[in-house]
Amino acid sequence: MRIPSTGLTKAEVAHAVESARKDDWPWREGKLFAYTFEAGADIEEVGKHAFMAYLTENGLDPTTFPSLRAFENDLVDMSRRHLGGDEAVVGNFTSGGTESIMLAVKTARDYARAHRPGLQRPKMLVPVTAHAAFHKAAHYLGVELVLTAVDPNTFLADVNDMRAKLDDDVVLVVASACSYAHGVVDPVPEIAALAQERGVLCHVDGCMGAFLLPFFRRLGADVPDFDFRVPGVTSMSMDLHKYGLCPKGASVVLYRDESIRKFQLFACSEWTGYTMINTTIQSSKSGGPLAAAWAVLQFVGDDGYMRIAKDLYDAHKALVAGINAIPGLRVMGTPQMSLVGFTSDELSVFSLCDALKAKGFAVQAQLASGPSKENIHMTINPGNTRWVGPFLEALRECVAHVRAAGGGVKPPRDLASQLAAMIASDASGEGLGRLMDGLGVGGGTAPRDMADVNALLNELPLDVRGQLLVAFVGRMFTPVPG
Ligand SMILES: *Cc1c(COP(=O)(O)O)cnc(C)c1O
Repeated sequence: MRIPSTGLTKAEVAHAVESARKDDWPWREGKLFAYTFEAGADIEEVGKHAFMAYLTENGLDPTTFPSLRAFENDLVDMSRRHLGGDEAVVGNFTSGGTESIMLAVKTARDYARAHRPGLQRPKMLVPVTAHAAFHKAAHYLGVELVLTAVDPNTFLADVNDMRAKLDDDVVLVVASACSYAHGVVDPVPEIAALAQERGVLCHVDGCMGAFLLPFFRRLGADVPDFDFRVPGVTSMSMDLHKYGLCPKGASVVLYRDESIRKFQLFACSEWTGYTMINTTIQSSKSGGPLAAAWAVLQFVGDDGYMRIAKDLYDAHKALVAGINAIPGLRVMGTPQMSLVGFTSDELSVFSLCDALKAKGFAVQAQLASGPSKENIHMTINPGNTRWVGPFLEALRECVAHVRAAGGGVKPPRDLASQLAAMIASDASGEGLGRLMDGLGVGGGTAPRDMADVNALLNELPLDVRGQLLVAFVGRMFTPVPG
């Protein structure tokens, strides 16, 4: 596509924008168990109004738009109280969990550089269940990521393994509250105590859980301490665009005090332009997500979040019990929040995913990694709760269907090892290109039925899987001239 030689009319553009989404998943139906956290038209409207009101204001300069600074300080204040932090706790609003985590890792690296002059190669200890954003941060920031073990049944971080790997180069240890894949809360008190003993910073990733878990605790859920009440926890990330129900582009990163947070901040006077002072990775940024997050928290309030939490709590209990009652399926670990990972020792979970999709339910396939075999992930959002019954019925039918078809796609072991060998000797990337053509990936399209692709990916060594996925993304984001 070229920039049109003459601009379209407003009506033409509006029509084009609306018709562009015809193949998008119809998330408003409530049958998509991931990606969206919708909780009704009123909340959406409040968020949208504030978002549009501040669409054009620029968060680049906190002195020109003091309203944005006030919204941010309010959100940080509400967040630190929500997470048991005292008045020394400081933090910032960011564009999402990934940015919060990148900033926390950068802060830990630079804090250690300042306090340990001999530090050569900064490392962080990251349980295999922690979010991929830590791997991305390591990749971007030159911090070595040392994976640590989890219990193969509970999927909780193994504190002894962390202790064994905690050497003088470690600048940060990580715990999840809760983990994305299995929805379990790591033993934060033990992990933070270990870090504190050794004078190392400890980040609790509460991107998914930190907002909702305090409500779940009030409902009686068995959740260990995970927030700033725990000595030794030095930073936390919490997404407002997940269970805070705010429009996307909303997260906070919090630190125990300013002596740590100051390593997050960036100022530059060694150039000829305006005085640059940045709290986050983004520099120019819309005030929309920030104003919207502030507005949504004001509108929903503690009572509203509590009602929504109760609905999620009940739906989650019913979902876990319902899945475990289906012969051939089992929930992995004991999820403590409204997420679940479940698997099967008899049937292909990838075939199950496709079968569910044919019935209008979208769930996520999670590939095998370390101690976690391939499984199906569901994040329950408020719009999903009314579908738990029909979902379980559809799941029973899909299990019967996949069982009748012989269990679904079989692991293509020979193909996987041939492929791994081919990629190892494929310096030019030509072989990979042909493979992508064969899979029908290219020109901005993705394969429709994913079972075969996932079954193949699942069998590949992790490094080969990574190379294949990079080639896949490159293909998906190559415009087709036309
Ligand atoms: C979603 C999530 C993240 C990453 O957040 P984004 O907002 O997608 O960048 C990090 N950690 C956990 C546990 C998450 O669920």
